[in-house]
Amino acid sequence: MSTQFGDRPMYIGGEFTESDSGKWMDSVNPATGEVHGRVPAGTVSDVDRAIKAAAAAQLDWGSRSVWERGERIRKLAEEIKKRAADVVPLEAADTGNTIASLGNDITLAAGYMNFVAGLGIEIKGESVPATTENIHFTMRQPYGVVGRIVPFNHPFLFAGAHLGAPLVAGNAVVLKSPDQSPLSATLMAEICHDVLPPGVVNIVSGEGLVVGDAIVRHPRVPRIGFTGSVPTGMAIQRSAAEVGIKHITLELGGKNPFIAFPDADPEAVANAAVSGMNFNWSGQSCGSTSRLMLHESIHDDVLARIEAQVSAIKVGDPLDKHSGMGPVNSEKHYKHVMGLIASANKEGARLVTGGSRPEGKEFSRGYWVRPTVFADVTMDMKIGQEEVFGPVLSVLKWKTTEQAIEMANCIDMGLTSAIWTNDIKVAMDTARKIESGLVWINGTGRHYMGTGFSGWKNSGLGREECLEEVLSYTRSKSIHIIM
Ligand code: NAP
Repeated sequence: MSTQFGDRPMYIGGEFTESDSGKWMDSVNPATGEVHGRVPAGTVSDVDRAIKAAAAAQLDWGSRSVWERGERIRKLAEEIKKRAADVVPLEAADTGNTIASLGNDITLAAGYMNFVAGLGIEIKGESVPATTENIHFTMRQPYGVVGRIVPFNHPFLFAGAHLGAPLVAGNAVVLKSPDQSPLSATLMAEICHDVLPPGVVNIVSGEGLVVGDAIVRHPRVPRIGFTGSVPTGMAIQRSAAEVGIKHITLELGGKNPFIAFPDADPEAVANAAVSGMNFNWSGQSCGSTSRLMLHESIHDDVLARIEAQVSAIKVGDPLDKHSGMGPVNSEKHYKHVMGLIASANKEGARLVTGGSRPEGKEFSRGYWVRPTVFADVTMDMKIGQEEVFGPVLSVLKWKTTEQAIEMANCIDMGLTSAIWTNDIKVAMDTARKIESGLVWINGTGRHYMGTGFSGWKNSGLGREECLEEVLSYTRSKSIHIIM
């Protein structure tokens, strides 16, 4: 069957290749529900091929200087920027993220590569005065082959951003693309093909339970970096523990609180609450502040402003630069989002706007959900507890600061949070008490490279977007020179 984007191979050992099985998987355009491309349905033997290629290539790559590796990674960043015109429309069509927002994914992927490219020289050991007569020091070395598994919401950005740290540390990588939006992985493979020696980066497509699991369980993969949902993160820990002792980083989901205090400006809070939801990606961002907790004194004012803004978001073709929101990523995800909307209605949350498929012929196919706001949400409702990872904002009301902090912390995730107040004492007191890996005070959404990103509680393990991430792709060795 011929499709718009055609058959897009995997990348193993420097070659573009089909799966050993000869089978292919469809990729569906979420705006229409039509198949618009295919990728190989990878198998356990494909994974084995990729890991063997990576292990062979790593011997040379790991022996190169940090300057040389850094220079190659900077070149990757340059090529990523040059290929923006190819990546952005493909990614918009495959993910449903708006084309207007996707330039930022290119900037971030390239920016992160440039950032880590310079950190190679920081991969230092220590000299330790353990005795007076001998010399004792530590050195850091790469793991060898690293497995990286990425989610569907920003596949190109995550592929790019997640390659830099293991590579600069001297590892080779086997990356698994997400099966719901796998097409841009081939463009990343083409970039790697032009810049890196064969086998240093390998990209395998296919089902998580087959390809992802085979990467996790493979004896030659001691280090895994995973970005995705909490249940999959837990499954990866279980699988890894069944076969050995592995080093795993997990960047997982969130149900992130945004606490607005009585002194906050209602207009600023409404603007930030809407932008913090990332409607331009249909809310499909782990960091979206999807639980808005308004003090009762500003609740009605802020909610009215939010209703006006959210109901005005222009839902439409993600490839139209005027669209403010496209569809959600897949049929499976559409059912998940609609299921949580139904449960919110059933449990007594008040639907303020959205909550259904938009009207119009262009929305009759595909996976469209109107941008949605529920008020009167309480923390005993499913919509208060569970990550929607969709265009659904839950609004809660609070009276006392203790109550707000209790509401913020009473779930098992803790990725991001936002606090809005002009009182620095209140802001800092709340920031200390809140259980999340990142806190914005009078801000939302933005990541600040170098400062680190990580979840508390079930939202993750390990820290990324900082030096700690680069170091986490190395292991330490103590050396004693006996004089
Ligand atoms: P997911 O279902 O957990 O899948 C993520 C990746 O894991 C996919 O490539 C998937 O493959 C693969 N996978 C599935 N089962 C696996 C297994 N048993 N072993 C190994 N790999 C497996 O997540 P998603 O639905 O794609 O993404 C949404 C989630 O990611 C949300 O919870 C969101 O909050 C989270 N997220 C977190 C961050 C962060 O930085 N903290 C960033 C973005 C997204 P298939 O696609 O083939 O199923």
